[in-house]
Amino acid sequence: KNGLMAGKRGLIMGLANDKSIAWGIARAVAAQGAELAFSYQGEALKKRVDPLAEQLGSTLVLPCDVSDEASVAALFDALEQEWGKLDFVVHAIGFSDKDQLRGRYADTTRDNFLMTMDISVFSFTAVAKRAAAIMPDGGSLLTLTYYGAERVMPHYNVMGVAKAALEASVRYLAEDLGKDGIRVNSISAGPIKTLAASGIGDFRYIMKWNELNSPLRRNVTQEDVGNSALYLLSDLGAGVTGETHHVDAGYHVVGMKAVDAPDI
Ligand code: NAD
Repeated sequence: KNGLMAGKRGLIMGLANDKSIAWGIARAVAAQGAELAFSYQGEALKKRVDPLAEQLGSTLVLPCDVSDEASVAALFDALEQEWGKLDFVVHAIGFSDKDQLRGRYADTTRDNFLMTMDISVFSFTAVAKRAAAIMPDGGSLLTLTYYGAERVMPHYNVMGVAKAALEASVRYLAEDLGKDGIRVNSISAGPIKTLAASGIGDFRYIMKWNELNSPLRRNVTQEDVGNSALYLLSDLGAGVTGETHHVDAGYHVVGMKAVDAPDI
């Protein structure tokens, strides 16, 4: 195979359907020659993930619920058996009780706080440790975050707190694993209509706001995120680690947008 990812084998975690950010990334790296394995959460998703994996020439589709340590261990054992080693992992997983992705952060319950942190933050650390153990030649790990980690966004609530912790864990993991040639980065994506996003209150309004107020005056697509992921996962990003890379049409740099009035 030819391309920027030729000879590289990677795991894509978090594919739910063809709207998933994971799907945009999988397509971008497969088009550049990557060989892919996919993990899915629960049998109900397997029938969605199988045909998508097949479209990209992958038959390695494995179950993994990241809240279960044994399930994470089994996934990486299976990958080691199949491939021996791994070059990259995409972690596109997050979860919180959707009743708490509206209203006030102050009302987050202890149970949902811990569950959100476990699935959306700790899972990346657990995955990084397992993946690093089968990356003798170095590698690249990537997770997905959102601007709600840095600034207060409506309804993002406990997910914002979790994403802040996720971004911090990217920096700590970058230091821990850098000595072994393993890079760890995140992409902070602008709002994209996916299954997970549909759980967030007023999501249509948030998308419209981003479209009207970002420097590029548009929302980002799965392809935008996929192509930036390609840079971080391939050797193009060889000097980059510990980074939160914004793929958000520039929204994060705007303090206050100028009035869009061509006449004045
Ligand atoms: P999605 O619903 O397509 O993907 C979320 C995935 O998380 C699903 O595949 C789901 O199965 C998986 N998941 C949840 N709990 C799990 C568990 N216990 N074990 C294993 N998998 C589990 O939605 P998406 O928007 O593509 O989300 C991917 C990532 O991108 C998430 O981390 C999300 O926070 C992040 N993100 C999304 C947006 C957006 O606007 N859509 C913006 C920035 C960041």
